[in-house]
Amino acid sequence: MSTRSENASEAVLKNLDQLIPTLEALYKQVHAHPELSMQETQTAHLAAERLRAAGYDVTTGIGQTGVVGLLRNGDGPTVMLRADMDALPVEEATGLDYASKVTAKDQTGQIVPVGHMCGHDMHVAWLAGAATLFAQQRDAWKGTLIVVFQPGEETAQGAQAMINDGLLKRFPKPVVVLGQHVMVGPAGTVAGSAGPITSAADSLQIRLFGRGAHGSMPQASIDPVVMAAATVMRLQTIVSREVAAAEAAVVTIGVLQAGTKENVIPDEAVIKLNVRTFDEAVRSRVLSAIERIVNAEAAASGAPRAPEITPLDRYPLNVNDAPASQRIASAFRAYFTPDRVRHTGPAPASEDFGCFGVQWHVPSVFWFVGGTDPATYAKAQQAGRINDLPVNHSPLFAPVIHPTLRTGVEALVVAAQAWVAALGAPQ
Ligand SMILES: [Zn+2]
Ligand SMILES: [Zn+2]
Repeated sequence: MSTRSENASEAVLKNLDQLIPTLEALYKQVHAHPELSMQETQTAHLAAERLRAAGYDVTTGIGQTGVVGLLRNGDGPTVMLRADMDALPVEEATGLDYASKVTAKDQTGQIVPVGHMCGHDMHVAWLAGAATLFAQQRDAWKGTLIVVFQPGEETAQGAQAMINDGLLKRFPKPVVVLGQHVMVGPAGTVAGSAGPITSAADSLQIRLFGRGAHGSMPQASIDPVVMAAATVMRLQTIVSREVAAAEAAVVTIGVLQAGTKENVIPDEAVIKLNVRTFDEAVRSRVLSAIERIVNAEAAASGAPRAPEITPLDRYPLNVNDAPASQRIASAFRAYFTPDRVRHTGPAPASEDFGCFGVQWHVPSVFWFVGGTDPATYAKAQQAGRINDLPVNHSPLFAPVIHPTLRTGVEALVVAAQAWVAALGAPQ
């Protein structure tokens, strides 16, 4: 094993200790001022400011609020590093002194609480840190860095919005696209694997049509409540009866709405559901089963009209390129001790990160960085209660800043150096 790329990573990371306090300040500032998807103007401004100060060529407003920093540093490979910036309409309940108290108008015009409950604030701080360090140590690497701060990950809009705004034409094509996410796991560790790493996700809205009537005269109605109830139960059989044991899928009905009053049979019901799959063939099988069951249940009820099925959003399957993943895994093992590099199968979470690699036709790699206090994690593991730890999107999700902040910066630098290290791995 060569230690040359390890040394090159260490050269880039030389000033990390000095940088940590300002990254912590940036993290807390973004955390306390979260912004909803596609509204990340302040966060984008902070990211752009950092990149400009470090000497990057900065383009703002790509795909609404996206920011791209370009740093050319001689002949060598081009590597793209990506962070997302958006927060969620969730009221933070962490009790931290830098917790969010923010409310904002969502895309439907409703006022909602806003909190960084997925950790994208950490992603912003990581990428700002790595970008700064690369700019400070230009002797330790060669090539071009494209640093992307992406809006709207939580609504599956941002990556595509940046691509639609010309990202792939306006910037040089990278040899690899890299991204990372903070997750439950011991802080100080990284985790990943080759192959599918996050699931494909499809959200659908289904309107079921019946015929309204007085609650005392069900014979005059076609009851959409019963139709919806039967549909919901039957949809459970897709995963249990139509997906093989060795395959995986999730079908979750998150919304079931009908009616306004106990003695009125409404004339329609709405179901909103979310599907997660790890394979394109399974994905299309599950989606067609949903369509078949929804239509058949409506027909069984004698519905006056066929149901209306509307796609809400869609995240692509995110597949880690095998050779690129291996290159990163060996760089991680060389830099971190091997016990800090964990193997993890695909997570049933979804990401629009995959859009960049797929549409640019270049390999991409996405990995996870632990954000749980290591002692808390070990205790939960011993008690068999890992699932009790607050996960992403929980109002209690709060990564420990140290060493999560440092580990994420290190991971980005070490992974990028597997390509751009002047003395490093073969190109
Ligand atoms: Zn999220
Ligand atoms: Zn996320």
